[in-house]
Amino acid sequence: MRRIVIAGNWKMHKTQADSLAFLNGFLPQLETTPEQREVILCSPFTALTSLSKTLHGSRAMVGAQNIHWETSGAYTGEVSGEMLTELGVRYVIVGHSERRQYFGETDKTVNLRLKAAQASGLTPILCVGETKEQRDAGETETHVVGQIEKALAGVDQSKLIIAYEPIWAIGTGDTCASDEANRVCWLIRSQLANKDVPIQYGGSVKPGNVDEIMAQPDIDGALVGGASLEAETFARIVNYVS
Ligand code: PEP
Repeated sequence: MRRIVIAGNWKMHKTQADSLAFLNGFLPQLETTPEQREVILCSPFTALTSLSKTLHGSRAMVGAQNIHWETSGAYTGEVSGEMLTELGVRYVIVGHSERRQYFGETDKTVNLRLKAAQASGLTPILCVGETKEQRDAGETETHVVGQIEKALAGVDQSKLIIAYEPIWAIGTGDTCASDEANRVCWLIRSQLANKDVPIQYGGSVKPGNVDEIMAQPDIDGALVGGASLEAETFARIVNYVS
């Protein structure tokens, strides 16, 4: 049985106070969430400590949104794996398209960050996906397979989550059709040595489409941006109807 993992990516949203207000509304709604669903909240660095303290002993786990590949050093603005695990962080998003687009993230640095995450005991959530131009040119498959190959060179596949996130569907409200998303997730799985790696879909997941997305055989979860910011909305996604 493959794991089911639903993760919220808060991006650069929520102060500590906002995060705690979210949990007040969200945690009670996890009481009926089926046990086999893993729930992760990936907050900005500044809210990790309070999230971690409040979530201790609860169903939800804490994730970060970036990690540096070195353990320490002159890397202003970066954070190491040890700094994250010390706070109770268990997961980290690596290679999100916003980091690739705005912060110069490359397949090489994604690969280094994945290895650093695993070396410090974190489970990385590797994001891959094509642009609209690549999709229109029929290059989705070659692009995504290329990203997977480069990102996973020398990476342990036993402690890994992958998120297929078509860039044209992120934050646009324009969801990828569930059968198209499933086809790419299947393709990703076919490239993996470990067929049990959970593969999420991400891109405008919301209460209105999550049931259909999660019904697809090769989609094992969701990485959710905008719709993870509001407790009721994210709770409905986590408690999707199967
Ligand atoms: C994301 O940030 O990974 C994402 C999928 O965002 P959204 O759900 O808002 O499209």
